[in-house]
Amino acid sequence: MAKVTLEHITKRYEDVTAVDDMNLDLRDGEFVCLVGPSGCGKSTTMEMIAGLTKPTEGEVYIGDRNVTKLPPKDRGVAMVFQNIALFPHMDVYDNISFGLRLRDYDKEEIDRRVDNAADIVQLEGMLDRMPDEMSGGQRQRVAIARAIVREPEVFLMDEPLANLDAKLRVHMRTELQRLHKELDTTIVYVTHDQAEAMTMSDRIAVIDAGELQQIDPPLTCYNSPENLFVAGFIGSPSMNFVDGEVTQNGLETEYFDVALDPGTIDGLSVGQRVTMGIRPEDIYPVSVDEGLQYPTNRIPARTDVMEPMGDEIFVYLLLEGAQEATMGTESRGSGQLLMSVDPDSDIQEDEEVNIVLDRSKVHLFDTTSGEAITHDITTTPVTEGRAERGETGGDA
Ligand code: ADP
Repeated sequence: MAKVTLEHITKRYEDVTAVDDMNLDLRDGEFVCLVGPSGCGKSTTMEMIAGLTKPTEGEVYIGDRNVTKLPPKDRGVAMVFQNIALFPHMDVYDNISFGLRLRDYDKEEIDRRVDNAADIVQLEGMLDRMPDEMSGGQRQRVAIARAIVREPEVFLMDEPLANLDAKLRVHMRTELQRLHKELDTTIVYVTHDQAEAMTMSDRIAVIDAGELQQIDPPLTCYNSPENLFVAGFIGSPSMNFVDGEVTQNGLETEYFDVALDPGTIDGLSVGQRVTMGIRPEDIYPVSVDEGLQYPTNRIPARTDVMEPMGDEIFVYLLLEGAQEATMGTESRGSGQLLMSVDPDSDIQEDEEVNIVLDRSKVHLFDTTSGEAITHDITTTPVTEGRAERGETGGDA
């Protein structure tokens, strides 16, 4: 295993900068996902680590070796791709051992490595099967075993689960985590699926438009996104964003005013333009009576479409004064919020509700730069937080 370092890596095609001055320090033995929307430069970054693409500028290190000019075969990496290219006329054993046989390893060593790899990916007893006798997941395991037998210092995986059906993909995520534990090897994994990245990685590198936005453990990206892009990309359904202006005690937005914790607006000037971010699960419905207890936090709204998901219900809200509009999970207008409630909630469609925001979970971003205005996101439950601040009753 080895660390991987990218120093000021840029890749330009004629009129496209696919990767823009990327610096990455991936630790020895760590599982890192490169995640971002399609076309953001994930695969190009991976290909430059692999040696399949030459950077226009910058250096690539694997361990302490500068490998920028080395061909893929001399870098100590093994790759697994989305399209599993198994040789259809070869059985599993021959497919897994193909690379080793090319390199003239002796039979005993090949057998040892194939048996070990087959054991790790749970393909024992299937070594004489042909690819067309196997399921998609089994074929993907053959591809992974073929990478394992190379005993690489670094595994590079580019959307290896993208062609599998949803259930198998979830199962394979667990398998890959187990594999990582067992092999104790550095894994760099490309995916556009933030859920995949959240569940598997030690750290996530979020990329947009060729630029690294944040590299942190999944929950840090989720709880403390460094900018609007990361805030909107990590988490499903995505965070609600509302533009507003800082007031003496909170925020004034187009459809509501809200008091925020002093710590959240510390250091900001009245009238400053900010974008507030609040996740669907950090918005709570309160009855009209209850709502009166929270005069500075209560936001009147009407429920619109509801989507029961089994373990939670997504409730689309239209804020008082806002126009009806078509809502979708990922395209919310300024008068719309998405709230997630317990499945046993008795909330109905087309009903007047009051909502409160968990003020300890409010994120603020500079509207122009998109950068987070940092404060500590605590985990104080909404009710306790309010009680501590003595916020009960008063004028509405
Ligand atoms: P991702 O893997 O995040 O989907 P890619 O790394 O494949 O993104 O691509 C990043 C950008 O570089 C895209 O705009 C893509 O069109 C461009 N690109 C990638 N490969 C080439 C190439 N060989 N020639 C020209 N443009 C390319």
